[in-house]
Amino acid sequence: MSSVDVHSKLPHIGTNIFTTMSGLAAQYNAVNLAQGFPDFDVPSYLIERVSHHMLTGKNQYAPMAGILSLREKLATKYASVYGIPFDPVEEITITCGATEACFSAITALIKAGDEVIIIEPAFDCYEPAIVLNGGKPVFVKTTYPDFKINWDEVEAAITSRTRLLILNSPHNPTGTLFTKEDVTALRELLQRHDILVLSDEVYEHMVFDGAHHYCLAADPIIREKTLTIGSFGKTYHATGWRLGFCAAPAHLMKEFRKVHQFNTFSAVTPIQHAVSDMLDDSDWHHNLSSFFQSKRNYFLNLIKHSGFKAVATQGTYFQLLSYAAVSDKKETDMAEWMVKEMKLAAIPVSVFYQDKTDQQILRFCFAKKDETLQQAAEILCKI
Ligand code: GLN
Repeated sequence: MSSVDVHSKLPHIGTNIFTTMSGLAAQYNAVNLAQGFPDFDVPSYLIERVSHHMLTGKNQYAPMAGILSLREKLATKYASVYGIPFDPVEEITITCGATEACFSAITALIKAGDEVIIIEPAFDCYEPAIVLNGGKPVFVKTTYPDFKINWDEVEAAITSRTRLLILNSPHNPTGTLFTKEDVTALRELLQRHDILVLSDEVYEHMVFDGAHHYCLAADPIIREKTLTIGSFGKTYHATGWRLGFCAAPAHLMKEFRKVHQFNTFSAVTPIQHAVSDMLDDSDWHHNLSSFFQSKRNYFLNLIKHSGFKAVATQGTYFQLLSYAAVSDKKETDMAEWMVKEMKLAAIPVSVFYQDKTDQQILRFCFAKKDETLQQAAEILCKI
């Protein structure tokens, strides 16, 4: 009996880099600074609240858009931190992680033949979602080594089929941030072109050296055309809880919810209640930048005499390091050699480019205990 041809919808996609590197790190018993997740605990208050809500019966489906108290507190936070009015009833939806939010947003907005502009290097979840919906990703590279968006190139990539521009700040993998000039350039672009924006801002509370996170929706013109995506997993050191959100004007959110309700229906109930309780503590997100800035500085100080040189990083919990001074290997080979031979896992940045641009840089996650960073730094100093 012949087997049915699968007709892969993503023939060019394999197992993603995060799964691959975390697998290799486990297999070779390596220090894992590859996949971005903290190796320290979530706040004990949050654990206590999740337990409380599970024990008191918050275990059935949450409302499709998320529990109202969480949406209300998020709306209050957007108003107080960024001065942005989001209506909790019609303009915010709680999702199963930011990845689901990206997928539901792209699925809601992209029809076959639509073009979507992606700025490279780019996080890996955007492109497959576009392709699965019959859309065409159009790639525009940032400059090197400062990873700035060239807005003339973005504008030149816009055609009559362009539907969506995907932006990300603080940026994974480079750690760069939108500037005031970027916001102005984007506003002017949106005034000239009828396109929408997906703004991935999951690292919004990790910005360093006194820098400011520009939430794009704070600009009223941009807000009307933008879906903002965020992550409680990032903010509360709980990436495994898979809790994110999307905020957007009601007419866009209406379409987003049509997909979200059939993609997953709703996100995990007791955790929504616990995060809603946690949002009462605004000190937490205000202090997060200084917490991660100390981690970054600690790590960079430990490796200052190594052959690895820091590139950029004003935000996120990732640090790019150039190894050009110690090896001429290409990035994927260097990452593989490091994890197998040196027992340290990192992410090659070339995987975030469609054409695998190789700049001899690797991405290291510094959301780790000091002892983990010490172990990693010892290895880096030996290379
Ligand atoms: N956002 C995380 C990173 O960049 C990983 C997410 C994932 O594993 N899909 O490392």
